[in-house]
Amino acid sequence: MATPVIIVHGGAWTIPDNLVQPSRDGTKCAARAGYAVLDSGGSALDAVQAAVLELENDPTFDAGTGSVLTANGDVEMDAVIMDGKTLKSGGVACVHNIQNPINLAREVMEKTDHCLLVGPGANLFAEEVGIKKVPTESLVSDEALRELECYKVYGNTVDDLFRQRGTGHDTVGAVAIDSQGNIAFGTSTGGISCKKPGRVGDSPIIGAGGYADNEVGAVSCTGHGESIFKVVLAYQIITQMKMGVSAQEAADKALANMAKRVHGFGGVIVLGSNGDHITSFTTERMAWAWAKEGVLHHGVNPGEDLTEPVINENN
Ligand code: ASP
Repeated sequence: MATPVIIVHGGAWTIPDNLVQPSRDGTKCAARAGYAVLDSGGSALDAVQAAVLELENDPTFDAGTGSVLTANGDVEMDAVIMDGKTLKSGGVACVHNIQNPINLAREVMEKTDHCLLVGPGANLFAEEVGIKKVPTESLVSDEALRELECYKVYGNTVDDLFRQRGTGHDTVGAVAIDSQGNIAFGTSTGGISCKKPGRVGDSPIIGAGGYADNEVGAVSCTGHGESIFKVVLAYQIITQMKMGVSAQEAADKALANMAKRVHGFGGVIVLGSNGDHITSFTTERMAWAWAKEGVLHHGVNPGEDLTEPVINENN
């Protein structure tokens, strides 16, 4: 038997002051949703799906409703889920007009022989499994519209903007271990603002944007996707952990290496099969929360670690 734990993130980026409280509230709520699944004997897979779903439905975050916009004002989303017991995964990329890409990713994992469906093929599969289409406008937040306008006025390239202003965006993710010792991860994102139509980031790519293996642990990444790709961030952390390096050291080193080699910034949440559970980020802020044994920890600023009971009469 293992002690169930869930960690969630709401993206590593600058997080302006006006979004700090909503980011705290959203990540706490998602960790509670995932923990409720684990606490009632549910699986790590169901817990990460429930947590990510909560974050996709919260317009504060760049996933599902609230996704950032492509250069032509469209919403194109990526999501993935992975089972650390079987190493099966399901991902979708560049998918349009669905409210919860994480549910579609789970269907890809459960009902196809594939790891990743993209674009029109992913939308066709959504129809096949009865996931309903929603209008693009229902996924667009005022913040995403404002941000696109700002990028268009001041932007050179998305790459420059990410580096100069430390902005990425608030992609969401979760990693969990259940009472059976099974481990899973899930991530969902609208990507980065002003991206070219058709651009896919690291998030739905196992090894780059995340990984889960019962024998080692799980990682969900956030930050500049092109940089995360180049260093294969998640699997770099898993490889270090396999060699006996602690989750914290593996994560800190891998992020430092990404900054050094490709000048890329981001953050990770990491869970070890040995019970380690940590967060690490090189951006100004990252919203995160984790829940274990009835206690919720959360933070947004570097070094911050606030606690409260998971079951809180105010929630
Ligand atoms: N990694 C995501 C992407 O590049 C963005 C993020 O994590 O904020 O699509």
